[in-house]
Amino acid sequence: MKLRPFSVHRPRSVREASHLLDELGDEAAAYCGGTELLLAMKLGLTGFAHLVDLKQVDDLRGVTGHDGSLRIGAASTHHEIESSPAVRALYPEMSSMSSRVANLRVRSVGTLGGNLCFADPHSDPTTFLIAAGATMLCQKGDDTRRIPAVEFVTGPYQTLLEPGELLVAIELPALPDGTGLAHLRMKLHERPVVTVAAMIRVTRGAVSDARLAVGSVGVVPVSADAADSLLGAAAANFGTRADGCAEEAAVTSRPLPDGDCSPEYLRHLVRVHSYRALIAAFAAARSGGP
Ligand SMILES: Cc1cc2nc3c(=O)[nH]c(=O)nc-3n(C[C@H](O)[C@H](O)[C@H](O)COP(=O)(O)OP(=O)(O)OC[C@H]3O[C@@H](n4cnc5c(N)ncnc54)[C@H](O)[C@@H]3O)c2cc1C
Repeated sequence: MKLRPFSVHRPRSVREASHLLDELGDEAAAYCGGTELLLAMKLGLTGFAHLVDLKQVDDLRGVTGHDGSLRIGAASTHHEIESSPAVRALYPEMSSMSSRVANLRVRSVGTLGGNLCFADPHSDPTTFLIAAGATMLCQKGDDTRRIPAVEFVTGPYQTLLEPGELLVAIELPALPDGTGLAHLRMKLHERPVVTVAAMIRVTRGAVSDARLAVGSVGVVPVSADAADSLLGAAAANFGTRADGCAEEAAVTSRPLPDGDCSPEYLRHLVRVHSYRALIAAFAAARSGGP
């Protein structure tokens, strides 16, 4: 199938891009690397007469670190993120997670913002960013707002973004000493069938904060409530508690059959990956992580 003709607009600022999208309404969409949007248009799944190219908008680009926190411009490609010295120094797990997204060709043009805004249920970064406690900086016209990563995706291919609103940057908080992060996933074909990320903080030998995010199996990635059961755990009982937490995450996950995997098998994958991610994050936290 061929792409139908469309006009491309190249704004230089977030404000200009947002105004363009507002003015052009349903006839227009933002695009960055185009790895999702152009494919969907080519397959006839969607169509737009106008595309607003975000690649030359400076505010959407670049990765900067400040006092341990990171700001990643939404138009940064996965490859730019995996090879960024700031990401490697402050969030090595973000760098490692990015290096496993797709293949080099897709990572070289596909962006973090495009991944998050497309909201395909099979996403590595969305799951990781929930566990890391990240925030999405969004802008419509002159108005900005910050949305916690866990609230950003509202359904398959749906986010909290309003028409004309752009994702500008992803902000990752500084991680105190004694924090460990781990991201695990399994792929059968192109996209992951399960993604699990864990954050564990250890203070004076015991767990003082814990998050477990489970994605790719259901319609939206979720933060598992079961992680609260890890609070207070120490080396002697962490394994048992992690086992219980992983079991609970599996039971409460709502997997959809995806053609290759039954819901029962997906629950099994959630259980195994959750346990392994929790153990890895705990080990990293005890060794002073990240
Ligand atoms: C072969 C293949 C394998 C893949 N494997 C994986 C994988 O293993 N793990 C994984 O997580 N992902 C995977 N992906 C998905 C990949 O990460 C995304 O295709 C890519 O990141 C999308 O970025 P893009 O810039 O090309 O988005 P585009 O196609 O340009 O845009 C996607 C959507 O986001 C919107 N958009 C883009 N930027 C913004 C913004 N700043 N503000 C508001 N809206 C915006 C657009 O309007 C569009 O609706 C794979 C994709 C392919 C094609």
